[in-house]
Amino acid sequence: MQRSDGRAPDQIRPVNFNLNIAPHATGSVLVAMGNTRVICGVTLEEVVPRWMKDQSVGGGWLTAEYSMLPYSTTTRKQRDIAKGRLDGRSSEIQRLIGRSLRSVIDLEKLGPRTMWIDCDVLQADGGTRTAAITGASLAVSIACKKLLEEKKATSSPILKLIAAVSAGIVGGSALIDLNYEEDKAASVDFNLVATEDGEFVEIQGSGEEATFTQNQLDEMLTLGRSAIRQLIATQRSILDQSERNAAESNESGNQESRN
Ligand code: UDP
Repeated sequence: MQRSDGRAPDQIRPVNFNLNIAPHATGSVLVAMGNTRVICGVTLEEVVPRWMKDQSVGGGWLTAEYSMLPYSTTTRKQRDIAKGRLDGRSSEIQRLIGRSLRSVIDLEKLGPRTMWIDCDVLQADGGTRTAAITGASLAVSIACKKLLEEKKATSSPILKLIAAVSAGIVGGSALIDLNYEEDKAASVDFNLVATEDGEFVEIQGSGEEATFTQNQLDEMLTLGRSAIRQLIATQRSILDQSERNAAESNESGNQESRN
C-alpha cells in the first residue's frame, strides 16, 4: 500500500529530540515525529498531593498535563481554559501519559515531591499522545539526573526508558506511526507504549466502526515493538551524547579555572 508520504508500512517518521529547550524546567525536550512536534517539560514541586498525606502514602507522585496549542492544528483550536473545562480527549491523554511514566518511576526514590510533566503540542499531524510519551520519557530522565546532581535522590527514580507509537489498519494493511491523513482513513487505531526491555506498558486499540483479525493485531504489535525499539535506541544515543557534552564542558570549565 502506497503511503501518502512514501514510507514503508513498518517505517516510522523521522524522529528528533531537542533537549533543554525550556531553561526553567528541570528537564525539557522538544520531540518531533515527522510533522508532529510536542514540547515536554518536567518540573518538580516539593509537595505531594493531599490524598497521599491523608492516606499516609510515602514517596512522591508523578502526574501529567496535555494540551494542544491553539495554532497546532490547521484551524485554530480553542484553549480549554477559554471553554472553561478540559475536553474529554485531553483528559484521557494526560492520564495515559501519567500512567505510562509512573510504570517506570520508583515513587519512593522520587522522595516527597511531585513531578509534573507538561506536554504541549506545537504541531499536530497524528500521534501526538505517543510523541508526548516518547518525549516525556527523555524529559523525565533529564529531570532525574538533576535530582541526583542536586543530591535530592541517592539513586535515579527512573528505572527504564519508555517510548510509544501508533499503529493502525488502513486499506486492510497494518501501518506504523500514522500521520493525520492516515489516522483519518484508518479503520483500526492502536497506541502502544513499551519499555526498553520490550515489555508493554499499555496497549490501546479499537476498531472505528470496523473489526480486526488476530493476524492484523499480531502485525500491529510486531510493527509497534520494532518501532519502539528504534525510538528507545535514539533516546539512548541522544542521552549519551548529552552526557558526553556535559562532561566535556565541565572539563573545559575546570581547565579554564586552572589556567
Ligand atoms: N486533531 C486535530 N484537532 C483535535 C484533535 C485531533 O486536528 O482537536 C488531529 C491531530 O492532527 C491529531 C490527529 O487528529 O494528531 C489524531 O488525533 P487523535 O485524537 O487520534 O490523537 P493523537 O493521534 O494525536 O494521539
